[in-house]
Amino acid sequence: MDLYAYVRNVPDFPKQGIQFKDLTTLWMDPAACRESIDLLHARYRDRGIQKIVGAESRGFIVGAPLAYLLGAGFIPVRKKGKLPYRQVEATYELEYGTDTLTIHEDAIEKGDRVLIVDDLLATGGTVSAMVELVQKLGGDIEEAVFLVELVFLEGRRRLGVPVFSLLQYAQE
Ligand code: AMP
Repeated sequence: MDLYAYVRNVPDFPKQGIQFKDLTTLWMDPAACRESIDLLHARYRDRGIQKIVGAESRGFIVGAPLAYLLGAGFIPVRKKGKLPYRQVEATYELEYGTDTLTIHEDAIEKGDRVLIVDDLLATGGTVSAMVELVQKLGGDIEEAVFLVELVFLEGRRRLGVPVFSLLQYAQE
C-alpha cells in the first residue's frame, strides 16, 4: 500500500514557507490507518519493548495502538503543567523561546526497554527532549520511531539513538 498517497501536503501552515505534512488524511482512511500501525508492530514485535513513550498529542495517536499490539505500557509525555503527579522535565529550544516537556517520575524503571514514538521527525527538538526524559529515568531506548521523517532537516543526527521512519521526504 502506498502510504505516501495518504499524506496531505498543506503549504504555508502554520506559517509562510512551511510545507505541513498532514497525517489526518492517513489516519481517517481505515486501511491506511491500520497499515501504518501494522508495519510498526511487525518491526518491533520481537524486540522486547516494555514501554512506549509518546508525546502529546499526535504521538498518542501512533503510540497507544502500537502499545496495545505489542503488549507494552504507554507513557504520555506532556507539556509542563498537564501531568498530575511528580515529574521530571526537559526543556528544548523552539524557533522563538523554549518549551518544557514532562514525564511522571515513576513511569519508567531503570533498564526498561523503551520505544519513543512521534508522528513526525522534523528538527528533532521535541524528540531530543523525550530522549533526555527517558534517560533521566534510566530507561534503555531501543529506537525512536516516526511515521514521517523530514530527512533534509537532519533531525536524526541530534538524537543519539537509533531512528526509524516509515515515510521519508528528501526535500520540502
Ligand atoms: P521537531 O521538534 O522540529 O522535530 O518537530 C516537532 C513536531 O512538530 C513534530 O512532532 C510534528 O508534529 C510537528 N511538525 C514539525 N514540522 C512539521 C511539518 N513540516 N509537517 C507536520 N508536522 C510538523
